[in-house]
Amino acid sequence: MAKKTLRNIQVAGKRVLVRVDFNVPLQDGQVADDTRIRAALPTIRFLRESGAKIILVSHLGRPKGKIVPELRLNPVAERLSELLETRVNKLDVSIGPEAQTAAASLNNGEVLLLENIRFYPGEEKNCPQLAHDLAQLAEVYINDAFGTAHRAHSSTVGVAAFLPAVAGLLLEQELKMLGDALNKPKRPFVAVLGGAKISDKIIVLENLTTTVDILIIGGGMAFTFLAAQGIEVGRSLLEKNKITVAARIMDLAQEHNVQLLLPQDVVVASEPANEVPAEVVAVDAIPTDQMGLDIGPRTAQQYARAISQAKTVFFNGPMGAFEYTPFAAGTKTVAQALADSAAISIVGGGDSAAAIAKFGLGAKITHISTGGGAALKFLEGKELPGLAALEDE
Ligand code: ADP
Ligand code: MG
Repeated sequence: MAKKTLRNIQVAGKRVLVRVDFNVPLQDGQVADDTRIRAALPTIRFLRESGAKIILVSHLGRPKGKIVPELRLNPVAERLSELLETRVNKLDVSIGPEAQTAAASLNNGEVLLLENIRFYPGEEKNCPQLAHDLAQLAEVYINDAFGTAHRAHSSTVGVAAFLPAVAGLLLEQELKMLGDALNKPKRPFVAVLGGAKISDKIIVLENLTTTVDILIIGGGMAFTFLAAQGIEVGRSLLEKNKITVAARIMDLAQEHNVQLLLPQDVVVASEPANEVPAEVVAVDAIPTDQMGLDIGPRTAQQYARAISQAKTVFFNGPMGAFEYTPFAAGTKTVAQALADSAAISIVGGGDSAAAIAKFGLGAKITHISTGGGAALKFLEGKELPGLAALEDE
């Protein structure tokens, strides 16, 4: 990455505004999964040890410019304070006199958490006034919110115009892992793409098809590829208007000598549910009244073998409707292969990360991206606005 990071600047004694991604799931007023808070700890600890005065800003959920009491960051402050083993002062505002006073009275190493920035209507519009008001709190800006780096908002982009702006350690790490995989992968490079729809991931598919050695397709999107080969897919998820896209990607794979693997067998049922009779059929024998909801065991084994030969594996998109027990096996086999392989393994995508967590394999994956949408944008080869706004090295 050619961007300055917090390691390149002096922060001792300075008020530092850090955009973090504390967009965590809540349940009964508590943080249900603190992965994203933990992911921000290296930067926060680094700043504390360096004697900075730390002002954290994040969004949570989609309050759409209004104060939504259930989306206040209080539970986040509580959890963060436990993880840091220090008091985190949480405000009910993000800007204005109260925030300025609190910021000005910080001691070196102290941590202040501002209120959910999306309570302000200006945030998602990248309003310069809001950016300016945020910037007034600090002397330096650090973006460590990889999960929102694909959005041009006041706290991710606008504020960088008013302060020296550099990357945090998480942002740096995400870009290094994803960037190295994309730009200088250890080969063979295998991409496993699944999830619901082709339409979400056309550009990622196209971009990876010209980069990888093996492209593995599963999940709902596989059926549009199968349909492009003239296979009847019954009631499976089929994007009729994307059949030509699928055909083009198959051509592209051939042109680039990329091995493209599609399911040979699938698990079919009448609907995605937990208590539903399911059976394994060959892809050319999907009953017209059934839908394919997972890759079959033969396919899963074939995919696992391909993964075991890889030096770099990128996994985005579950192989089936893994939320339901009868359709979880394909994703589990593939995730296990990822965990068992000695390759650099990278997982991007919210549901993919959830699947890895569900199977308890997180510790065996090289890098699980904290940003679903941002990781996909990056893999499309697009510049992330939150990154572009930072100073070059
Ligand atoms: P990610 O968040 O990792 O990028 P996606 O959001 O693209 O993944 O896809 C995840 C969703 O795809 C899951 O909700 C899963 O149930 C669904 N899915 C996977 N396979 C199928 C299938 N064969 N039919 C319908 N839905 C599927
Ligand atoms: Mg998803």
